[in-house]
Amino acid sequence: MKTRPLFIVMSAPSGCGKSTLIDMLLQEYPDLQYSISCTTRAPRGDEEDGIDYHFLTVDRFRELLAEGAFLEHAEVHGNYYGTLRQPIVDVLNEGNSMILDIDVVGAAKVRHQVMHHLPPEDPLRAGYIDIFINPPSMEELRARLVGRGTDTPDVIERRLANAEGEMARAGEYMFQVTNDVLAVAYKRLCDLIDAKSGRM
Ligand code: 5GP
Repeated sequence: MKTRPLFIVMSAPSGCGKSTLIDMLLQEYPDLQYSISCTTRAPRGDEEDGIDYHFLTVDRFRELLAEGAFLEHAEVHGNYYGTLRQPIVDVLNEGNSMILDIDVVGAAKVRHQVMHHLPPEDPLRAGYIDIFINPPSMEELRARLVGRGTDTPDVIERRLANAEGEMARAGEYMFQVTNDVLAVAYKRLCDLIDAKSGRM
């Protein structure tokens, strides 16, 4: 079936199950690809170039920046991060869809860029949707972060404070999905994607 290629931007506070949901979507939809960001930071652990990030030198990043190659970019902890425009254009032109996992600040930049600087017929704009994943409640989010056992109490408090700031901007998104029961949140995401891509 011929479907409309989508450019899906997804944000969620840490601990909301976004990575799990994205992994499930990537398995379900063979025509969906994950947008790989560029960064100037060094690879960590078993991170691989071209899989986790495109690892670039500062000079190369600045060169691309000067060429206007980034849909959005940011400096985080002294390193540059950015989303290249061309890979998204290529994927959509091939008739496939792209999903971008990005924080609320980055998402706002992408949204502005797409909605205010691209004509309505541009595939990035025609196929654009953005989705915010909410936790069921702050109590539940705290319980999940504690249960995960990967963060110190300080880090958990910082993540919760960040989550509140991010949730305050959830209204900027076209859609919000609450991840209470994973299967229910996942079904809602699939329904949104199917409806927007014309799969049903
Ligand atoms: P990390 O170095 O831990 O992988 O990521 C650090 C921060 O950079 C995270 O908050 C992550 O969301 C952000 N980040 C990763 N890729 C991008 C990107 O393409 N654009 C922006 N604006 N931020 C990014």
